[in-house]
Amino acid sequence: MNIGAHVRGGGKLIPSLEAGVEIGATSIQVFTQSPRMWKASQYAPEVLTAYREAQATHPTITDTFCHATYLINLASADLELFEKSVECLTHNLSVARGMGSSGLVLHVGSHKGAGFDEVVRQIADAFERALAEADPAPEGVADCPILIENAAGAGGTVGRSLEEIQFLIDACNGDDRLGLCIDTQHLWASGFDYSSVAGAEKLIKEIDNRVGMSRLRCFHFNDSKIELGGNRDRHANIGEGTIGAKGLAPLVGHPKIRNLPLLLEVPGSGEGPRAEDVVAARKVVAAGIKLYDGVTTSAPSKKTPSAKKIAPAKRAASTKKSTPVKKTAKKTTKKTAKKTTKKTAKQTTKKTAKKTTKKTTKRAASAKKSTPVKKTAKKTKKK
Ligand SMILES: [Zn+2]
Ligand SMILES: [Zn+2]
Repeated sequence: MNIGAHVRGGGKLIPSLEAGVEIGATSIQVFTQSPRMWKASQYAPEVLTAYREAQATHPTITDTFCHATYLINLASADLELFEKSVECLTHNLSVARGMGSSGLVLHVGSHKGAGFDEVVRQIADAFERALAEADPAPEGVADCPILIENAAGAGGTVGRSLEEIQFLIDACNGDDRLGLCIDTQHLWASGFDYSSVAGAEKLIKEIDNRVGMSRLRCFHFNDSKIELGGNRDRHANIGEGTIGAKGLAPLVGHPKIRNLPLLLEVPGSGEGPRAEDVVAARKVVAAGIKLYDGVTTSAPSKKTPSAKKIAPAKRAASTKKSTPVKKTAKKTTKKTAKKTTKKTAKQTTKKTAKKTTKKTTKRAASAKKSTPVKKTAKKTKKK
């Protein structure tokens, strides 16, 4: 179990770790820059290095996720806004890579009614450009994936279904630097009922078939102020919303989910996640775990992506050598496991491609045709 939380470090990086410790979180999420301003954060390389080392050697916080700026809209028809968005995403990714972040969570944006098919290629171009143009991850540090967050579905938001997210990833030829962050509130608001064991299993199957479970790196763990299918983004404290503790337990207790970072973005008493919210979240996961460990019929399949199991020894060795800071054996294993997960993404993608429906293949194929990353990027610039 890894209960994390969105925290604020007052514009400073290392204090964010402390903010996580204070509420008992074991992962944190931070904004890479002021979330409602275009102004890029200016962290000196030493500041990023210091954070990375503090995170890597931290006794209790295992992962730092970054959340990208809310203003970004990769689906915008306004070329100026689109270009600004790509630039902003690129900067967010540079910072996240420099911090040694486990993932940069992104709201893709809204096509404002133009339709998903109209914007899929331009979004793929934006991803390809940001991934290519951002400062590279420092040597020996695992690369930071862009994690597409599912949307609640209001006003033409992109990522309202796993199908849309699949098309975006397919349009980037399954680039393994693209991953997924599922927000439990958004998923509920978009109409996916996962509040039973059968519902949770259905969700996991769909994620695996469409993008591969290895792309799923974290959850935003929130209850909902909005009813199922209400299409609005309104987070509630765990157990105080329309999903409720009972509705959340089957998902977060599932063997394939329970060890992923579950990041709280709940209101608390108005200032964000508190210690008691972390405690409430733990209780729900524990209740969910009981649900499965008591039921023998729905035993986890052998395909469970326990990255540790498949970690090649070679990879582990090279990681140890290139890691810039001293680590305990335990810690290194964890990090290695994380890195290895990425490797499996490609395999899974291939498999996924086979499984997709005819319709999907057609759409994906047309997107794939327009390869060479650089070519398409330039084309968009001219537009
Ligand atoms: Zn978000
Ligand atoms: Zn939200």
